[in-house]
Amino acid sequence: MNVLISLDGLSHQNFERSSQQFIMNGFSYCKKLITTFPSVTFNAHATAMTGSNHDKHLVFDNVVSRSGTMERIELYGDHEIICNESLHEQTLFYSLAENERKSCCIHWPMTSGNPYIHHLVTESGSKKKIQGTVSVEEIDTVALLETIQAIESAAYDFIAARFVCYDALSHQYGKDSMEAARCLEMLFEYIGQIDNALKKSHRPYNLIVFSDHGQSDVRTFFYPNEILAQSRWQQNLHNNQIRFVGDGSGSLLFYSSLEHQQNREIMDYFSGLPQVNLFYALEGESSSEYRPVGILDLNHTVCGEDIVPPEQPKYRNMKSLHGYHPANVDEMNGFMVCKGDQIEINKIMDETNIENIAPTIAALFQISHPCDGRKIKGMIREYD
Ligand SMILES: [Zn+2]
Repeated sequence: MNVLISLDGLSHQNFERSSQQFIMNGFSYCKKLITTFPSVTFNAHATAMTGSNHDKHLVFDNVVSRSGTMERIELYGDHEIICNESLHEQTLFYSLAENERKSCCIHWPMTSGNPYIHHLVTESGSKKKIQGTVSVEEIDTVALLETIQAIESAAYDFIAARFVCYDALSHQYGKDSMEAARCLEMLFEYIGQIDNALKKSHRPYNLIVFSDHGQSDVRTFFYPNEILAQSRWQQNLHNNQIRFVGDGSGSLLFYSSLEHQQNREIMDYFSGLPQVNLFYALEGESSSEYRPVGILDLNHTVCGEDIVPPEQPKYRNMKSLHGYHPANVDEMNGFMVCKGDQIEINKIMDETNIENIAPTIAALFQISHPCDGRKIKGMIREYD
């Protein structure tokens, strides 16, 4: 049995302080798991589970836009425009099902309706089941109970579960706050319980724990659509030809139906602003109605919001953020620890990419999984 646990929003630096307790328990440790750009939950989780980047799976951010109308589409609840058969067939769940292995998946983004998952618990489904206002702690309690039940049932070959509490509390109180730190201790306790349940199952197992991205502290907010509304492109904004879209996690996607040269001028203009780190042009082979033409990467203490006048600015009071380029902002990167029958004991690995998770799990199962990622070097024990 292979179990993959995602601890949402925990940077490699914040994990490192606690890494010793994992090493003492026989875990191998990859100090830095390079995340996606933008470094947001849905992009990173889709990349981890498909083994390919957003040019293939088309999950760019937690929100996307329809370039014809500039309609903003929130993927929370796994909107079917992106979360469809073409995405499901790229996931590791598909390759496992092809090889008659059974999967259980708990609170993983973009899994709604995935027919290759035998037991699926979605985050939105769990929220509906809990009466009244749902806290993030309650969501993670459900994730723990479901994970332990799945292990004890011995019905699945692969279990993937995601814990959301640390990310939510970091946004709200700050990544180094007491609230986030207490949550982290609780999550480590959960990992211990999962590991114990696996030991008790008396079946061979591997346990992999990773995070999708880290966080950085907020200093200021930035509203690029308001800047467009006061610029020479104001008519293009009003005609729904251009739009910045984001969910307040930091960087923003730029959508445009204008010509390349005009996009270039807009990008150059924004690149000159003090809040902007770089405006990345997205040039790829894939074409999709939901594909942005660029990503506005802000300085990592600046939070981009996509308010369009005459909407009123909504200050989210976020204390910590993510979304920035992992090559520029090291805090965006995650970590990975792993242990198990097929995994090296106490091996320290420097860094690897998040897209290598799916092919590594496929290698543990000894099945093929077509994707861009590669098996993580030196993690799996080699027998003669
Ligand atoms: Zn996340």
